[in-house]
Amino acid sequence: MPNVSKIEHSYSEERRAKVTLLTKQRPDIREFHIGIDDTDSEMGGCTTYTAAVLFQELFNRGFKPSDFPWLVRLNPNIPWKTRGNGALAIHFFVDEERIEEVQRIAMETVENTTVASARGTDPAVAFLRGQVPRALREYSARALHDVLSVREARTIARSAGAEVHALAGVRGMIGSLAAIGADLDFAAHTFEIIAYRIKENLGSPRRIDHESVKVMNAKHDARTFNNLDPESGRVLVSPHGLDPVLLGIRGYSPDDVLAAFKEVQLCEEIERIMIFRTNQGTDAHLGKMRRAVDLKPHQSGVITGRVEDMPRVLRGGHVIFGLKDDSGSIDCAVYRPTGSLAMAARDLLPGDRVRAFGGVRGWREGRPTVNVEKLDVLHLVEKVEDVNPMCGKCGGRCESMGRGQGLRCKKCGQRIETASKIQVRQQRQLQQTVYIPPPRARRHLTMPDSTPRNIFQHISRVEEFQLRAGDYN
Ligand SMILES: [Zn+2]
Repeated sequence: MPNVSKIEHSYSEERRAKVTLLTKQRPDIREFHIGIDDTDSEMGGCTTYTAAVLFQELFNRGFKPSDFPWLVRLNPNIPWKTRGNGALAIHFFVDEERIEEVQRIAMETVENTTVASARGTDPAVAFLRGQVPRALREYSARALHDVLSVREARTIARSAGAEVHALAGVRGMIGSLAAIGADLDFAAHTFEIIAYRIKENLGSPRRIDHESVKVMNAKHDARTFNNLDPESGRVLVSPHGLDPVLLGIRGYSPDDVLAAFKEVQLCEEIERIMIFRTNQGTDAHLGKMRRAVDLKPHQSGVITGRVEDMPRVLRGGHVIFGLKDDSGSIDCAVYRPTGSLAMAARDLLPGDRVRAFGGVRGWREGRPTVNVEKLDVLHLVEKVEDVNPMCGKCGGRCESMGRGQGLRCKKCGQRIETASKIQVRQQRQLQQTVYIPPPRARRHLTMPDSTPRNIFQHISRVEEFQLRAGDYN
């Protein structure tokens, strides 16, 4: 991390209070928001990297951040978005007269960090000064679970007084606006610390000591998440591919992610480190209750209903079952990589009441198929099995003589012409609980099973933390 002058403020108040206070004291200063989307592609780049570079560039020029940079995950069920549909927002206090300068730096940074030749990369930058209008907040909330149009993005930008620049195609406009409008102040949020690789190493295997990740996880498991996959033992903090992320550790506060990060032994040089405030691990995309009849392609949401038929296990291990609410029916698809979730789905029985969380994949024979990311089993029916009765004479198990032929005792041979099978209640393997996939198969947004309650609030001491992260480097 570039050298930074000593800490001048150690913010101890909630962000909003801080913003109100500062803008009251200095009427010429504005909170200035920059939204960035889609500077990454399969060919490299990472929008978080663009935001980290810009944040540090502005910081080094003496601008004061009003919060951590935000990593905002949007609707993960949009198929044309790369890697988890993340958009970024950064927030600084800027004097009215220096806003143009900040805008210029932002545009340059985005251009310099985008793999411009990559097809399907549509970088966009949005600028907004002052308070975030409610219309933009609502727009952003919808970007978590709906499919939004560029046309609407333009309308919202106009009404919110935001300026949006699309550098190639226009699709990035949606995310850049939605990032600014995200509600990470009051809604649930977590933190991620990301270390970036130096350019020379891009594309080569990432060198971190996996044993140290395991040690870190054992120590910080309660306050961080998705470090390891417990079933496979796989290390999840490092991505694969050409992007500049060496590793990222997710957790519930800046202290938590920083402490955990310091446990990990890096075996290659890093270019910079950044802590993001994020909606990862909050299930933010799964907050919308929907009826079967209202579902639209690529929406995320929640459907509550009764299981309609016996789950079918397809070749490959995927599980499909029908779910019916008072408006209609859907097919729920639970894919094999979801491990324990797919195993749970196999054990469902017709009549079970469940809440299915996920995204609309497509339509088959007139019914939507929902790709299930999480399953809340609300009520289990009794499992009853037909079995042959015991022999009245010797207590042995009877067997069927064939259709309409009655039963015969296997042990003593006693025949019972009129007897038929009896129903016996079986133990259900399934529990009335919430099933989620193992960490390796989770969405960025999926809430881990052990989330503490206090992620709903956090005091931000941005500069202090970014500096402490920088000390490490
Ligand atoms: Zn018998």
